[in-house]
Amino acid sequence: MKLLKILGHIFIIVVLTVLTQIGGLIWVIALVISYWLKCKKRYTFPITYLAFNLILIPLIAPCFGRVQLPVFDSAIKPQSYFYALAFRNYVTPELKYNLKDASTDLMYLDIQINYLDANFPFFDGFPLLPHLSHNDGKKVDIAFQYKTADGKPTNKKPSLLGYGNYVNLENPTNNYCKSKGFWQYDITKYLNLNINSDLAFDKENTKTLIQGLLYRTQNEKLFIEPHLKEELGLKSYSEIRFHGCQAVRHDDHIHLQIK
Ligand SMILES: [Zn+2]
Repeated sequence: MKLLKILGHIFIIVVLTVLTQIGGLIWVIALVISYWLKCKKRYTFPITYLAFNLILIPLIAPCFGRVQLPVFDSAIKPQSYFYALAFRNYVTPELKYNLKDASTDLMYLDIQINYLDANFPFFDGFPLLPHLSHNDGKKVDIAFQYKTADGKPTNKKPSLLGYGNYVNLENPTNNYCKSKGFWQYDITKYLNLNINSDLAFDKENTKTLIQGLLYRTQNEKLFIEPHLKEELGLKSYSEIRFHGCQAVRHDDHIHLQIK
């Protein structure tokens, strides 16, 4: 029985570490606090987790070269609070500055930059799964822009997490990659939790967003699907690359990385 309990704790620590980097450590700290205070884990874990998430880690991370992206800002926000709660919204100070600067292009339309997965707060080389490359603070995924049925720009998004809601169901690159055996190319479709199906892809403001990001960042790479690069009239931008069939579809979000 005791062994089963220990294995249960190890399982929770591994899952929390993979998902949030810090969560496994917080679980251990909460266990120690529970033991000291003779208080149940169901109370100590959420309180300790929130203290680390909202106060301690945002204060400590800059010593390790990473800063937290804004969570409650009107110009730049996570598409889902999950990214902030899971410590998945840390970047280098330079990338944060670039994003904040680019968000000013959208402010006059009353729309914002919504980010998805970025990086964990600590250690280069610690991957933020399933994105193997999001491991150095220099990468961030950003949601496309959308408009309402009557054509107005909106901060609402069609899907809950921002992955898997493809703007072009007929994607020639997807067919090509799948035919070459890259079965994982559209695996993000399983993450698509549709919440606002009446929204339409806003080509114009997604283009403004991409141009603004490229204007602010230097030595960067930006990934979207090749057919979208053409459709948005961005063919002249050499920084916009095809990520390759070994990655996943990028007609649901933008991947930005700086050097
Ligand atoms: Zn990415």
